[in-house]
Amino acid sequence: MQDLLAFSLGGVSDKKATLPCPCGWRGHPRRPCVCTPPAVSRYLSRLSGPLLDRIDVQVEVESLPFAAWAGEGSASRGEGSAEVRARVAAARARQRERFAGADGAANARIPPGELCRHCALDAGGLSLLEGAARKLGLSARSLDRILRVALTIADLEGAGAVASRHLSEAVQYRSLDRLQP
Ligand SMILES: [Zn+2]
Repeated sequence: MQDLLAFSLGGVSDKKATLPCPCGWRGHPRRPCVCTPPAVSRYLSRLSGPLLDRIDVQVEVESLPFAAWAGEGSASRGEGSAEVRARVAAARARQRERFAGADGAANARIPPGELCRHCALDAGGLSLLEGAARKLGLSARSLDRILRVALTIADLEGAGAVASRHLSEAVQYRSLDRLQP
């Protein structure tokens, strides 16, 4: 299992939450969705619960307009692969240190019972997590995933500890939990 398993949803046209569907075009600005409401519900219920709990990162991806794609190679380019690689290598080094060089050790493999010891949240972090759990009805497993991802975000940033901003970013990566009816 990878540290992070990305799961993308197509066809999100604006900032309001849209539900994924079998045809994949629900909410797309130009292509019509051909799914019936019961088909969408069935699809969502198949995605929900234990399956979603096993996915670390769920992110909605907007369809890319041609002009934006064509401009990709020019000025607006973000971080380059070499920089990202260096950040990831530094984060992995931090994890090796955390687990005292244990073979293949990674945040993804921290047993749930040991997560709190590695994440040591302050009062602000705890209340943020409590609020998210209540509002989104998050399962214990989902909360564990959020903690692990927040720890990895903190590692990638080179931060010494998991802060509220890392937790709220990790909560943002639970798109499908946030869409559950
Ligand atoms: Zn559809």
